[in-house]
Amino acid sequence: MSQAPTESHSRVVIVGAGFGGLTAAKRLANTPLDVTVVDQHNYHLFQPLLYQVATASLSPADIASPIRGILRNVDNVKVILAKVSGIDVARQEVVADGRRIPFDYLIIATGAEHAYFGSDWAQFLHGLKTIDDAIYIRRRILLAFELAETESDPDERRRLLNFVVVGGGPTGVEMAGSIAELANRTLASDFRVIDPRSAHIVLVEAAPRLLTTFDPSLSETARRSLGRLGVEVRLRTAVTECDGSGVSIGLERIESRTIIWAAGVRATPAAQWLGADHDPAGRVKVEPDLSVPGHPNIFVIGDAALMFGANGRPMPGDAGVAKQQGKYVATLLVARDKSKTFPPFRYRHLGSIAAVGRKSAIVQIHWLKLSGLLGWLVWSVAHIYYMVGFRNRSIVAMNWVWNYLTPRRGMRLITGVTGSHIEDMRRCVLSPTAANTGGAALPYAATATLEQSSRQAPQPVHVDGRMDQAGDPANRYSQ
Ligand SMILES: Cc1cc2nc3c(=O)[nH]c(=O)nc-3n(C[C@H](O)[C@H](O)[C@H](O)COP(=O)(O)OP(=O)(O)OC[C@H]3O[C@@H](n4cnc5c(N)ncnc54)[C@H](O)[C@@H]3O)c2cc1C
Repeated sequence: MSQAPTESHSRVVIVGAGFGGLTAAKRLANTPLDVTVVDQHNYHLFQPLLYQVATASLSPADIASPIRGILRNVDNVKVILAKVSGIDVARQEVVADGRRIPFDYLIIATGAEHAYFGSDWAQFLHGLKTIDDAIYIRRRILLAFELAETESDPDERRRLLNFVVVGGGPTGVEMAGSIAELANRTLASDFRVIDPRSAHIVLVEAAPRLLTTFDPSLSETARRSLGRLGVEVRLRTAVTECDGSGVSIGLERIESRTIIWAAGVRATPAAQWLGADHDPAGRVKVEPDLSVPGHPNIFVIGDAALMFGANGRPMPGDAGVAKQQGKYVATLLVARDKSKTFPPFRYRHLGSIAAVGRKSAIVQIHWLKLSGLLGWLVWSVAHIYYMVGFRNRSIVAMNWVWNYLTPRRGMRLITGVTGSHIEDMRRCVLSPTAANTGGAALPYAATATLEQSSRQAPQPVHVDGRMDQAGDPANRYSQ
């Protein structure tokens, strides 16, 4: 058991227990500071493996861990489950679910959220950012196959078996490859009328190549690997219109009932809460020590922050940056509590990795470039290493071995639809997001309204499910 705070009782509030916030909280464990972690969920989520939940390889609980459980042995850290809606900067209080939480130091680590180019696209596109998103996408994909099995109209059947993934960053590549393997291996012999291998998976990317943050040779390797899995990769292709039955690319139309959005996120509204200067993606412009200009006791880290690296470009929105920033700010607070000074934050880039299917990945660590099975082994070890908790690590590793050896994916459960009535299922696929209404299938108009009100009109700048280094036009998905 750890010791309770003794010398000082400076109050540190950390908003968000994702990669940045949780790292900060762990670093502040057993210090004299009085720490409160506030999160809208009761779990820490390992987002890099969300696509495996969305494609039935892993269960939600395999990639999430209860925050209280992680911090259970740390007496100076308490956890509050609440959604923050504002910061009272003058009174130094966090406003969350009607309560006010006072702070001496504040660390905002609320990450990013979905952003779509057209305000009404949100109802047709499905982004991958939360566990609920992943479960919903899994349901959509599996229901599309179920409905195709009993569909008599060949056009509608084709629409159901077409899957469009928008955005050729790591998340889009991982999603497209994984859907292809689901169709070609896992479901291949499960149906009697349709052949799941006839599913058509299209990956659409506006830039001239996939994975623009990687070396071009690795982008090409990834494109070829996806081709071998049966994914059609469309480069230099921007979606211009989108509705419930497909996407338009200029004059061309791709009919599909399942459109997955991996092309844009924006920062959570930390800048609005603070009235702080921000970039078009909503990221708060921070000082070299990650504090907000004019507020030396308020820090923003991770995907919600805009900081420039040594190369003069914004630091990427990835877990590595968030974790390093979380550790830095926590260490700075400990130093400040002892009246010591601390140097500015410096980011150490460890490398980039992306999986392309079940046994292939690309890896770039400085000059070292790996692909294929060797790349996948490095990818697997890195992901297991960064996961939280022994249980999750072992279950995920065992699942991967199982998936490697057999085509089966045991998590292909359709949940959240009432009973097994095909009419409910049909509405769930054909209506935009019944899932967001708790899974109950509602009439089309009702679900559309709920969806529209729950997702804000966007101003997206960043490619992929993760924030990218804004400023490079090639990395941007343009309309
Ligand atoms: C699908 C996907 C795949 C990815 N793959 C990779 C990868 O392979 N490698 C990599 O390095 N990065 C990857 N990323 C990016 C990486 O996950 C993020 O960069 C990282 O999570 C950012 O950390 P963070 O601490 O800023 O925010 P997050 O980890 O997103 O955490 C934010 C936390 O804040 C909480 N929160 C948000 N708003 C509120 C509020 N109003 N009130 C209370 N709590 C709130 C959330 O519940 C969450 O717990 C991926 C992202 C996605 C979406």
